[in-house]
Amino acid sequence: MTFTDLNLIKPISKALTEEGYEKPTPIQQQSIPEILKGKDLLGTAQTGTGKTAAFAIPILQNLTEKNIQNRSIKALILTPTRELAIQIEESFKAYGRHLPLRTLVVFGGVKQGAQENALKRGVDILVATPGRLLDFISQGIISLKNLEIFVLDEADRMLDMGFVHDVKRIVKLLPQKRQTLFFSATFPDEIKNLAD
Ligand code: AMP
Repeated sequence: MTFTDLNLIKPISKALTEEGYEKPTPIQQQSIPEILKGKDLLGTAQTGTGKTAAFAIPILQNLTEKNIQNRSIKALILTPTRELAIQIEESFKAYGRHLPLRTLVVFGGVKQGAQENALKRGVDILVATPGRLLDFISQGIISLKNLEIFVLDEADRMLDMGFVHDVKRIVKLLPQKRQTLFFSATFPDEIKNLAD
């Protein structure tokens, strides 16, 4: 299978060529068509398998095709660590470089001023760690009422790091009608329960 077989829009396939990507990895081959159709997805994949592109590419395409003009958070990617969050933001920016969508990353451990200013300028795709996201929501700086796509990345590490309550609190704040993508390297019972 090639990226051409996935029927990607030109601005994205051009960016992938520029990144030097020649063919989709197995997780990309399996996930991209389903996510493009708007389906929910449970993916078992480790970092290093091309997992980020497996969700970032179809999210960018779905948001572009819907062509919603308002600048509000339409996709949220929740991930456990600052390092992962930064990598995911960089991937969205790379694959989306020929698109007008705006991606931002927010995480704790730094002053919130710069992140807050960027949020106020308007964001389409937000990558966040749970604690800082909840801080911004409680201050009324972030609203998730227009959210369409929610990604829970590295769900097993979220649990290991003690984020389960934060994740559940965040999920309760999301619109019921949305697309949900759930990625975990392992699927113990705790993760199955969370996914349910
Ligand atoms: P990830 O599993 O998302 O952390 O990605 C691991 C690495 O693989 C990253 O450096 C990506 O840039 C790279 N990558 C992802 N998809 C592809 C692909 N289809 N072809 C070549 N490299 C890729």
